[in-house]
Amino acid sequence: MYRDVVLDHYRAPRGKKKLAHCDLRNEGQNPVCGDEISLCLALAGDRIVDVAADCRGCSISVASASMMAELLPGKSITETEHLLETFKGMMHGISAPADLEIGDLDALEGVQKFPVRVKCALLAWTTLEEALKSRKGSASGNRSHCGDHE
Ligand code: ZN
Repeated sequence: MYRDVVLDHYRAPRGKKKLAHCDLRNEGQNPVCGDEISLCLALAGDRIVDVAADCRGCSISVASASMMAELLPGKSITETEHLLETFKGMMHGISAPADLEIGDLDALEGVQKFPVRVKCALLAWTTLEEALKSRKGSASGNRSHCGDHE
């Protein structure tokens, strides 16, 4: 049953760690539920090499962030954007393409039936989307430091 997968990610979030450095950083909140996330991405060129996603909130938001942290490393920005659009679609009743690797995210597909929880499931992803946009906005190489590496 899908709940077991969600609870497993909630109990042991894959992205709960500090990165040696981060190239993209963003914070997100879902005031409806009180969920908060701090996201940190390490890049090599246009590829994501590591993800720290420290999410504090309900099981759905934490599990979604954990699944994201598990899926993204090794993906290009283009692949990441495709995955992002796919997951947003899933939360609005559009099934993921059969040939796309979505990891444990299919366990969250049932969340679409609960509009309040959809915001929880999407928190990590909208925070990711904003982080990627900020990258495009600073194409001059104006890298932001996250200060996580004392
Ligand atoms: Zn929530």
